[in-house]
Formats: sequence, C-alpha cells, structure tokens
Amino acid sequence: MSYKYEKVEVPSSGSRIEKGKDNADDLIVPDDPIIPIIYGDGIGVDVGPATQQVLQAAAEATGRKINWMEVHAGESASELYDGNILPEDTLAAIREFRVAIKGPLTTPVGSGFRSLNVALRKILDLYACVRPVYHLKGVPSPVKHPEKMDMVIFRENTEDIYAGIEWEAGTPEVEKIKRFIEEEMGVKGAMHEGPIGIGIKPITEFGTKRLVKKAIDYAIERNRKSVTFVHKGNIMKYTEAAFAKWGYELAEEYGDQIIAENTLWEEREGEVPEGSVVINDRIADNMLQQVLTRTDEYDVLAVPNLNGDYLSDACAAQVGGLGIAPGANIGDGMILAEPTHGSAPKYVGQNKVNPTAMILSGRIMLEYMGWHDAADLVKDAIEAQIASKEVTYDFERQMTGATKVSTTEYTEGIVKKIQDSV
Ligand code: NAP
Repeated sequence: MSYKYEKVEVPSSGSRIEKGKDNADDLIVPDDPIIPIIYGDGIGVDVGPATQQVLQAAAEATGRKINWMEVHAGESASELYDGNILPEDTLAAIREFRVAIKGPLTTPVGSGFRSLNVALRKILDLYACVRPVYHLKGVPSPVKHPEKMDMVIFRENTEDIYAGIEWEAGTPEVEKIKRFIEEEMGVKGAMHEGPIGIGIKPITEFGTKRLVKKAIDYAIERNRKSVTFVHKGNIMKYTEAAFAKWGYELAEEYGDQIIAENTLWEEREGEVPEGSVVINDRIADNMLQQVLTRTDEYDVLAVPNLNGDYLSDACAAQVGGLGIAPGANIGDGMILAEPTHGSAPKYVGQNKVNPTAMILSGRIMLEYMGWHDAADLVKDAIEAQIASKEVTYDFERQMTGATKVSTTEYTEGIVKKIQDSV
C-alpha cells in the first residue's frame, strides 16, 4: 500500500480486490474484501447503514464477509477535513480498493465544484453510468405491465454537452467564441443578437468506443439479446450520428458474436444464432416512446450523456420511480455504485425514507464483483419484504393494505429474509 491515509483507517482485517488480466472489468475478488463506503449527505445517514447491513447479510449468507472502510465526501468530509468536501483519502481509497459505494451528495453551492458526483466520476474516470431498470414484484407502477421493463442503460459519463464547456452570457469569453464561430468558421445567422450563452458538445471516437465496448461485453457476458445505440443523429450529424457510426465500427470487431441490424431482434427470431447479440440504433425521441410502447423489445442501451440522463429517468418512472432506481459509475476495473436519488434534505434524520435504491445499487456492485448468488439473495429478499406489505412511506401511500414502517424496520425485514433463506 503506497498511500498513507490521513484521517480514515483501513480495516485491520480483509483483503484488497485486485485487477485481473482478462478484460477491463476483470477483477480478482477475495471472500473478505475491503470496500469503501461514503454514507453521503442528508438521508445518506439512513440509507447508507441500511445498505451496509443488507449487503453484509447477503455476503455472510454466501460464506463471505465485507470489511467496510468508511470514507467521506460532502458535508461529513467538510467537518473532518477542514472544509475539503472531496479529500484525497476518499479518492485514494476508491482507487486502491476498486469497488466502492456511496449515498447521495448534496450539490454544493459556490464551492468550485459543478457537482461532487460529476467531480468523482471525472477524477476517477468512471466513464460508464450503468443503470439496470427492472420491475420488482409488488412495487407500485403507473403502467399496466411494468414487468415488461428489463433494460440496462449504459450512459456515457464524461462527454457531450455535460462536459462543462460553456460560457455565460455577457462575458468577454462568450463574445469571443461567438465571433470565432461567425467570423472564422463562417457560420452566419445561427445565433440571435443580444445576450447569449454558449455550450460545446464534444463526442469523441475514444469516448464512444470504450462505452459501447462495455455495453456489448455486458450483453455477451449476460446473454442479453440486443444492444441499441440511442442517438439524435438525424439532426446532430457530427456528434450524435458519429456516436452510432463509431458504435457500429466497434461492434464489427466482435465478428460472428454480433449481428449489426436495424431490425428489432423479435422480428428476426429464429435467425439470430444462439449466443450472438443484435446491434441496432434508434433516434432518441422515438426511443422515449418505444420504451413505453414496445418495452420488452429492448434490452441493453448505449446512449450519449444527456439523452442517457433523460432516458434512464423515464424508464425508471415505469417501474416505480427514482426513489428505488439504482445506478453505478464504472471505469476500467473500478466501480462506484450510487442510488439515483438525491439527499432529500427534508427527510434527514427521520428514519423514514426508502433505502431500496441504495441497496439495489449495492446489488450492481455485488454483480460486478461476480457475487451473483449474493446479488440474487438481495433482490429476492426485497421482493419478499414488499410482498409482506411492511414498507416505507413512499410505497405505503401507493399500495392498498400496506403498513408504513421506518427505514430501520424495513431494513431489518430484508436482512431477516436473507438470513432465513439459507
Ligand atoms: P431528491 O433528494 O432525490 O429528493 C426528491 C424527492 O424524491 C424527495 O422529496 C422524495 O419525494 C423522493 N425521494 C428521494 N429519495 C427518496 C428515498 N430514498 N425514499 C423515498 N423518497 C425519496 O432530489 P432533490 O430534492 O432535487 O435534491 C436534493 C439534493 O440532492 C440536491 O443538492 C441535489 O443536487 C442532490 N442530488 C444528488 C444526487 C446524487 O448524489 N447522485 C442525485 C440527485 C440530486 P417525496 O417527498 O414526494 O416523497
């Protein structure tokens, strides 16, 4: 170990997860890994410990043990590190131990960070935001057949209009950019006179191909049927259309394992050889309709940053909403799992909120570690808990005949179901 941690302790027992050699995501995972956890701000103090308990129960039920290493970001870091909300201890721990989980972080106002979450993804180069979207039995949903939803969205995490290259109206910089575009690049009549803000949308071959590779590798490994590139390339030809073009180029490298096709895989049933993955693409606005009207025809999606953001929230809404939507940011051999929801400040310290999103984010982490048996136990136990109708306030208000319980009671119910199942 080369880094000397300043204000946090490495657990005295436990082993480090090492990088394997097979591919970017190959890890060598011991049965007693050290895993850093950031509880996060606001309701993080409720959902963080709840998640820890459930994941530990699943690990123990499958003959393993997680050695938690608590590290800090956001408000708790600020207190411990004299105002520093993203200390080097935390970054070093995630780099060293490779698999980590975090709760929500409040977006700081005027601290120099656009968002702590974005900073973490950028600094650690966690370039794929992976959001599995599936329905848990019993979870209230606004659609008739939520069970048809079973997609995994790979959203590019570092590029696009989200890259943070933008200039404010009224600044000399924005006027300079405008002049450059109009005078040097010869683009006339595209921008109105008067105050203007300008943002830049970079999409690179490198950024696209590494994201698409993760999506295709995932599809092959998990026996998924298709990977769909979602883009707005009919309008944005050199960025969004390039995303799909580079995606198809990368897919070609897989040879017989993929079938590049613009037809949905159902329509080719019988023709697609066992074990191969169909690659297709869809225009983003159409896709927002398709996920609602032809839900079960889609499987793995690879999407640039902005459209991926919209699409993953829209899909999540069909299976119960953001309160239970899990996610993970993945780089090469490194994962930082995190729920999609924020720090919900109005519920802080009330032992009231639903920890499911962070627990299911932990489930993604377990799968990334190859602990599929433990991951399945977590899902089954949550479904059993929901079936018991003893649920937190957000589910209770949408279910008939349910009893409202606290975060702690809901969590203990899940832990007990895991323990009883083995
Ligand atoms: P939020 O914290 O997600 O909360 C919005 C609403 O979602 C809550 O009032 C609640 O709705 C529901 N909700 C969220 N988490 C829930 C849970 N675990 N259980 C039950 N209901 C839950 O969004 P926000 O109020 O817009 O953002 C608050 C702060 O979080 C901001 O600083 C924002 O920047 C930050 N944020 C961080 C992340 C992240 O760390 N990844 C993500 C998003 C936002 P009801 O009151 O209707 O029940």
